[in-house]
Amino acid sequence: MRKITFPLLIVLSLILVQCSTSKSTTSKTTETPVVENVILLIGDGMGVSQVYSGITANNGLNLEKSQYVGLSKTYSASSYITDSAAGGTAIASGTKTNNGAIGVDAKGNEVKSILEYAAENGLSTGVVASCAITHATPASFVAHQQNRNMQEEIAVDFVNSAVTLFIGGGKKYFAERSDNANLMDQLKDKGFQVALDMDAVKKTTSGKLAALVADEHPSTYPDRGEFLPESVQAALNILDNNSKGFFLIVEGSQIDWESHDNNAAGVVNEMIDFDRAIKVAFDYADSNPGTLVVITADHETGGMALTGGDIKTGDVKANWGTTGHTSVMVPVFSYGAGSEEFAGIYENTDIFSKLMNLYGFEK
Ligand code: MG
Ligand code: ZN
Repeated sequence: MRKITFPLLIVLSLILVQCSTSKSTTSKTTETPVVENVILLIGDGMGVSQVYSGITANNGLNLEKSQYVGLSKTYSASSYITDSAAGGTAIASGTKTNNGAIGVDAKGNEVKSILEYAAENGLSTGVVASCAITHATPASFVAHQQNRNMQEEIAVDFVNSAVTLFIGGGKKYFAERSDNANLMDQLKDKGFQVALDMDAVKKTTSGKLAALVADEHPSTYPDRGEFLPESVQAALNILDNNSKGFFLIVEGSQIDWESHDNNAAGVVNEMIDFDRAIKVAFDYADSNPGTLVVITADHETGGMALTGGDIKTGDVKANWGTTGHTSVMVPVFSYGAGSEEFAGIYENTDIFSKLMNLYGFEK
């Protein structure tokens, strides 16, 4: 009889543990934040005109499925017109800093990013960009350097960071450095699986991933093909393994560059590709409650004005105010868990605070 009672007790206590666990999970959902996963997509230089050029040319965009829209004020600590370093740092860390600064405040002190808070809280984290991963926008979430041009130093910060995965270009800042250090080996020592093409990226479904698929930047769309949506899908496949949740930042990097070039056709192409990445994010949110998708920009570029066009033919005509950035407020689109928090008009730094609150992280 004893031999039967003993395993029975184990089974019984397992059932009891099971019950108490599910009980606490149920009560937890009523009192703690609803957001477990955040997918933040930044269209660099993406103002309302860039968005509407894509909507016109493509006969609609997936981002129109967004549930709430807000406006973000983008000025930096040093200028009415921000650059991508200060704009990225403001969104990432809730701190207005000087143009050019990456993950440091206006005095040069390091400021912690939402990605770093997520990692500290046991979540998985990822960075995807259609440019060098060491470029200003993605770097703002991971690195801490006085100037965006210090891309070799930024690459070192990536190696030493707590990030779970990154996918982008910029291999040369890891592999062909002025100090001759081989950061590719260091990445492997830190437990990263290193991928140099999209086949290798797509085969990776767990663990840590460092994907450097171009020496400098992936090409413009459509030449770079499925790079951006496939990278977002690959990132989600890996990040999805963590039951505590994740933070993923995705940059549509080259909307900005086409806008600097005052090239409306190029802007349309980059918008359409960025929107394909948005669809991957929305699809994930649809099948994973507790996922928040936020789509915004660091600033507008080009002072793009749609002075003509045709909804039926998709034709778009643009005039441009500048080949640089502008100060105009940029849109914030949101979808999924906690999305209502992003309605309204607020500072770019509030995006950080809203995410911190929704995750329930403490500073
Ligand atoms: Mg950028
Ligand atoms: Zn720019």
